[in-house]
Amino acid sequence: MNVTQHRLGVIGAGTMGNGIAHVFARAGFDVVLYEVNQLALDRGMATIRTNLDREAAKGKIDPAEVPAIHARLRPTLKLRDLGNCTLVVEAATERLAVKQQIFRELDALLAPEGILATNTSSISITKLAGGTTRPDQVIGMHFFNPVPIMSLVEVVRGLQTSDATYETVRLLALEAGKSPVAVNDAAGFVSNRVLMPLINEAIFAVMEGVATAEAVDEIFRLGMAHPMGPLTLADFIGLDVCLDIMRVLEDGLGDPKYRPCPLLVRMVDAGWLGRKSGQGFYTYPVKL
Ligand code: NAD
Repeated sequence: MNVTQHRLGVIGAGTMGNGIAHVFARAGFDVVLYEVNQLALDRGMATIRTNLDREAAKGKIDPAEVPAIHARLRPTLKLRDLGNCTLVVEAATERLAVKQQIFRELDALLAPEGILATNTSSISITKLAGGTTRPDQVIGMHFFNPVPIMSLVEVVRGLQTSDATYETVRLLALEAGKSPVAVNDAAGFVSNRVLMPLINEAIFAVMEGVATAEAVDEIFRLGMAHPMGPLTLADFIGLDVCLDIMRVLEDGLGDPKYRPCPLLVRMVDAGWLGRKSGQGFYTYPVKL
């Protein structure tokens, strides 16, 4: 099948799911967007509308195309509406049990040639594949936030992922205007395995009084041309998410160099989660 003929499904309309549905619909695909939560589905669809309007206002897409893009999206709370899809990208909550359940249900629902992709940041593709009858058709398709803007997709091959599945997903990423990069399944893939220890080490530097958070960030912006410093980025990602990923690296790779910084643990214990809680390394106005 030509990649443009795929009928796509996206699971979860949160931060990542609505962005993934957005880029697929913008690229001309029909997309079924499935959620368990009506409010999250409504919010996800509203976010897509806002982001499409913003792209049109900036001249990135033709404003006349926006209604057609929107019309290609079919929001639903019924899993069976995904039954006709040939490729589904799962972007539900980052919990192993949640994803395993979704993969079992999709495995039973989709035609035998259907591809099951996941946007997980940390869960093993090989493990998710092992719970299905089609492990060769399970793959990671790891997008980056904000999805409509960031061009990278890490295409993560599990132990049993076939070359054909990999090639389909690589072409799909290109068709969606993204730049796919192949990696193999290992804790944190490449992006988080390299980024999170950098953030963690920056937090150690602050904890040990080597420099202030502002100074650490300035060093990376001015000296390494990073668009934002590691502590600003940590606040943006969420300190709880950073801590979870460090624990995945520590468990999965078994090397004490991945131990989470005690200051990171303390901040999460205090409920200082970064931007979303209003307090992290910096202070933010809280959205009510
Ligand atoms: P989110 O909390 O914003 O959205 C998750 C959505 O999934 C929620 O709306 C929730 O209602 C829905 N959901 C939960 N269980 C479901 C189910 N059984 N079926 C359908 N929908 C269900 O989370 P997010 O930040 O969008 O993350 C989603 C996935 O993307 C996670 O696996 C995460 O690790 C990964 N990811 C996140 C980022 C990021 O920067 N946020 C980046 C890359 C990858």
